[in-house]
Amino acid sequence: MSKQIRSAAGFIIYRKIEEKIQYLLLQASYENHHWTPPKGHLENGETALDAALRETQEEAGIGVSDLLVDPNFKQVLQYEPDKKDYVKTVTYWAAHLLNPNTPVILSDEHQDFKWLAVEDAKRLAQYPEMQSLFDQCDQYLTKNDQPTC
Ligand code: AMP
Repeated sequence: MSKQIRSAAGFIIYRKIEEKIQYLLLQASYENHHWTPPKGHLENGETALDAALRETQEEAGIGVSDLLVDPNFKQVLQYEPDKKDYVKTVTYWAAHLLNPNTPVILSDEHQDFKWLAVEDAKRLAQYPEMQSLFDQCDQYLTKNDQPTC
């Protein structure tokens, strides 16, 4: 029997410091303390975008008015979380943190955060699909270098 699919959503959040792009990664306080962008499962009847906004507020203290979400960069990751009996899909959009000095306020779910250039983000992200997503996002942002993305 095929495994159940559980949907999640989040944002590849980036900021610009002196025109250089940095990506936000959060370190889980559970299991193997891996690093991911803010994201989480959809709750009853929520759209993926609503879930991404809610999770980002909950996990990083970053609200909808702090972000410019780019509908043109949307990618879906799929993986089987360790020790779980389901397949997880995570829809990510690129989202620009408009004020680069906006504080990141963590919940109990995470124990640390970092703003990193793409190569460092890829090193910490560890999973090949996540690394590829950072590459694609970085190439997209470099090509579409405009204040709206
Ligand atoms: P998460 O989905 O981030 O809550 O993580 C749940 C479990 O899945 C953890 O054990 C992670 O190490 C693992 N995990 C997170 N992201 C990925 C990924 N992109 N590919 C494979 N496993 C992952």
